[in-house]
Amino acid sequence: MRPYNFSAGPAALPEPVLRQAAEEMLDWHGCGMGVMEMSHRGKEFISICEDAEHTLRELLAVPSNVRILFMQGGGLGENAIVPMNLSRGGAVDVVVTGSWSQKSLKEAGRYADARAAASNEASGHTELPAPATWALRDEAAYVHVCSNETIHGVEMHTLPDLAALGSRAPLVVDCSSHILSRPIDWSRVGLAFAGAQKNIGPAGLTLVFVRDDLLGHALPICPSAFDYSVVAANGSMYNTPPTYGIYMAGLVFHWVKAQGGVAEMDRRAAEKAALLYGYLDDNGGFYRNPVAPGARSRMNVPFFLADERLNEAFLTGAREAGLLQLKGHKSVGGMRASIYNAMPLSGVQALVNHLQDFARRHG
Ligand SMILES: *Cc1c(COP(=O)(O)O)cnc(C)c1O
Repeated sequence: MRPYNFSAGPAALPEPVLRQAAEEMLDWHGCGMGVMEMSHRGKEFISICEDAEHTLRELLAVPSNVRILFMQGGGLGENAIVPMNLSRGGAVDVVVTGSWSQKSLKEAGRYADARAAASNEASGHTELPAPATWALRDEAAYVHVCSNETIHGVEMHTLPDLAALGSRAPLVVDCSSHILSRPIDWSRVGLAFAGAQKNIGPAGLTLVFVRDDLLGHALPICPSAFDYSVVAANGSMYNTPPTYGIYMAGLVFHWVKAQGGVAEMDRRAAEKAALLYGYLDDNGGFYRNPVAPGARSRMNVPFFLADERLNEAFLTGAREAGLLQLKGHKSVGGMRASIYNAMPLSGVQALVNHLQDFARRHG
């Protein structure tokens, strides 16, 4: 059995997907070529790409007026690409809930008049500012949120309804680290993006979902390869897309579908999170998670040992128990367990067993 891998990203992939990719490495479906060796314009790769898009559209019930783009540049690339395409150089409101939205705010400021509509910085990024308190500008070209803050472990359990807040601006959502873990309410979304390397596949592929009516307003400085209308008009083939990443993503989409789809991922995420937070909240103070219960991420769970001198021993013991990459992000410290779709309940149970065992020996 392989060890359980709690990496925040690039993260563990479902084992059947890795096995299938290995089997098909030299010869995809008898065509005599591996996927990495195919022209992106050949019929083999076109069929792989169309199938991936179709399966993703089905999994997330993406409406027909929302385009799906396969891009490069990652989440941080999108922090520049979104304002270059949507801001028209005007006002952009960003809700700051952790490191990722903080970065989005800073980057948008290079292209637009970007301001924080709200911030949870005073709480150390452990609580979510209530949407009713957000200072939204009438003239904002869009409102940016990060619906799952991978580093601070804060998740918006529902997307804000901007119209109900009196705003006409489209909502832009960075959902990099929890895409496919729950359904998306498209009626509230103008654009969503996600780097693939958390919950979908290899690094290098970025998914963008963009409503038709938001296309066609890129700033003149926007590179053509990053102009959504150009990418959309060319079916994500304006330049060479990350072909292998798209193939792997397609395998993951089929895996999700075979498991029961996004509804089943949602159910499993709730079950895994309840098991882990349940223990972190009830262990006699040996460990703690600092995030307000209503704002806790079901994907990324930061936690701290009361005695931080035990951190190295904890990580060493974890590795010996077959539990990898539990060290916290350097800006937060402590530990972090990322429990994405590919992490089975048995992996979370093994982690809880290690937490209990370590506390018993050192408590
Ligand atoms: C990982 C991550 C990013 C950054 O992605 P890169 O591919 O490294 O640019 C952006 N936003 C969120 C929420 C992330 O988790």
